[in-house]
Amino acid sequence: MTASTWIGTSWKMNKLLAEARSFATRLREVPAPPGIQRFIIPPFPAIHTVAEALGPDSDVIVGAQNAHWEDAGAWTGEVSVPQVRDAGATLVELGHSERRAHFNETDATVNRKVRSALRHGLIPLVCVGEPDDVFRQGGSSEYILRQAHAALEQVPDASAVLIAYEPVWAIGETGRPAHPEDIESQFAALTEALRGRVRAILYGGSVNPENATETLAVPGVDGLFVGRSAWEVEGYLRLVDLAARSRKPAPAAATPTPTGHDGEDRPV
Ligand code: PEP
Repeated sequence: MTASTWIGTSWKMNKLLAEARSFATRLREVPAPPGIQRFIIPPFPAIHTVAEALGPDSDVIVGAQNAHWEDAGAWTGEVSVPQVRDAGATLVELGHSERRAHFNETDATVNRKVRSALRHGLIPLVCVGEPDDVFRQGGSSEYILRQAHAALEQVPDASAVLIAYEPVWAIGETGRPAHPEDIESQFAALTEALRGRVRAILYGGSVNPENATETLAVPGVDGLFVGRSAWEVEGYLRLVDLAARSRKPAPAAATPTPTGHDGEDRPV
């Protein structure tokens, strides 16, 4: 088990500013349980509002749902890594399957964005996941390893990177929740290939309070990346609480956590 269990949510294209502020204000009232690293990823217009409502000393990492690979320029409609950082984000989600399916995101653009995020000191959260037909044919691990390796090309130090394994067949309204046996071999493959190179490997796709604990028990799962079940703040807090309860006791010789983050001495 890594230093922290990561529990985060992306709101996708949901919530107006008042809703975003109210989520963050409630979150601020509830301290993180020991060993839990919380993160939330609002839509671009709410990043600043959420960061401000959480306050400068919050343990909660605020992210963006995407960012362009260039720092600035003639890219109408795009937002850069320096801009999301300026708004208060210290993490950027990249390569979500909805962006790959609807906005021409490719392994090559994800890789350029990962390198931009790292250049500017943000945590890249790289989503990988296979479609249903690949899963049914037994090709999941090869597919997601290809995506992960492509995202990390020309990245000599990926120790800040988070990987989220999110099978396309498990995500969103039409997704079907994964059973532990559906994802065990993929986590074994990701662990073998990436453990020690990246910071943590998370699972996402129809996670809810009924399956969160068994999902966290799958070897190699360092946390959960959640959509619908965490869009109401009490639902999010419930998952945080379940994750805290499912953590194994720390070994006796463990060093105390020096910061509000995951205890590793690395800037965010
Ligand atoms: C997602 O889309 O990344 C996701 C995890 O969504 P949900 O939890 O709603 O399936």
